[in-house]
Amino acid sequence: MMQTDDTICALSTPQGMGAIAVIRVSGPATFPVLERFFRPAGQRHALATAKPYTLIYGTLYEQEERVDEVMIGVYRAPKSYTGQDVAEISCHGSVYIQERIVRMLLSAGVRMAEPGEYTLRAFFNGKMDLSQAEGVADLIASESEAAHRVAYQQMRGGISEEIRGLREELIQFASLVELELDFTEEDVEFADKAQLTELVAKIQRVVQRLLESYGTGNVIKNGVPVAIVGAPNAGKSTLLNALVQEERAIVTEVAGTTRDAIEDEVNLGGVKFRFIDTAGIRETEDVVEKIGIRKTYEKIAQSRVVLYLFDAGRLQENAPLVREEIAALRAKVAGQKLLLLANKIDQAQREEVDRVLANPEELLYLSALEGEGLEALIEALQASVNLSALESNQNIVTSARHYEALRQSQEDLARVAEGLAEGRSGDLLALDIREALRHLGAIIGEVDVDRDILGAIFGKFCIGK
Ligand code: GDP
Repeated sequence: MMQTDDTICALSTPQGMGAIAVIRVSGPATFPVLERFFRPAGQRHALATAKPYTLIYGTLYEQEERVDEVMIGVYRAPKSYTGQDVAEISCHGSVYIQERIVRMLLSAGVRMAEPGEYTLRAFFNGKMDLSQAEGVADLIASESEAAHRVAYQQMRGGISEEIRGLREELIQFASLVELELDFTEEDVEFADKAQLTELVAKIQRVVQRLLESYGTGNVIKNGVPVAIVGAPNAGKSTLLNALVQEERAIVTEVAGTTRDAIEDEVNLGGVKFRFIDTAGIRETEDVVEKIGIRKTYEKIAQSRVVLYLFDAGRLQENAPLVREEIAALRAKVAGQKLLLLANKIDQAQREEVDRVLANPEELLYLSALEGEGLEALIEALQASVNLSALESNQNIVTSARHYEALRQSQEDLARVAEGLAEGRSGDLLALDIREALRHLGAIIGEVDVDRDILGAIFGKFCIGK
């Protein structure tokens, strides 16, 4: 995968039949190979002499047999996505034609591209840095407005720019440390030390903000986990269906690890929410149910919001149990937001619910069946995600890899600050500064990044990107 001087091809549009399919070719042999199969409609538009950024119309032949009428997009090195000569063949989207064209290219010595190999070449050729390349993958995978927005910003180099800025300041810092080294015997030391301390504190603040943004970034990218707790028949499935219909979102059902765990993803106001059905928390002696309860609490711990749903129409019989479960949940939720949903309010009196539960502040009235109270619930869910960072256009870290690198650099910086305070010598400080530089550099791929890491990053891409 690390070889970049051969010529690769792949289907860049999804597998299967479509109106049009696009096959992308990149590498030095791109045009010589295509010349063998392609006859342009007009003599003046031969591929070899075609201007970059033009579309050439013509026919692909294998021997004397016409294979398809195609358009070929021409990009010439270095001004292409990969930085190499690139052709994009738009053909009729029959699976037969797609495969036939790919086979023709392979027979001419072109190699099948690995997942993400075009973007890997773009990275190697300096078209984008590593964080931007990851932004490309995130953009393609984005399923909500918020995820799209942060991925787009990352692809455009938002994070990269900020990291570069930090690295420049650190390099400046390193040179100041050296300066300070030279003057240790003189009076200037104190002024320098104050300046250095301020500089490292400033860098720490920026790194800290980026670290904190991961809380938001992670939920934007992966969805906000919401655990739904409630007795059987409380209306959990009805609620999920109502939410799904409300946003007319595509629902993906992912079979969970337990027989009763089903995940639904719903886009609400541009943010993806991941609803996690749980087995409930009813106290029991039954071993199987006990395991279910433990799992429920695990899921609650991994959630950002906990919805406790109860049948308000049956509160008369259920009141002690509902009170007990609410108390148990309140004791368990730590960082999560707990919402109590009095469902089937169409069959109950609000006053009665208020009286029985003594007016808890987290209470929302709901009729999942009739759609009543859904808007208030959606608003409460949205309020649980702090999107102010998104609105202020600040960079948001969405990648666990970036988070880890930032965390390590923050540790390095803490050692630098500590060293300064203790009056540690400049060459010792410089060691930690270099470590911080290295960790920050890994985010944008400016320092040597492990092949395994590159493999992991690009291996997650679609073929053909
Ligand atoms: P689950 O076991 O918690 O998933 O509960 P279901 O969603 O399957 O609902 C159990 C029953 O309650 C079904 O017959 C639903 O139609 C009914 N139900 C759910 N929500 C409401 C509601 O808001 N009002 C009324 N009247 N019935 C509801």
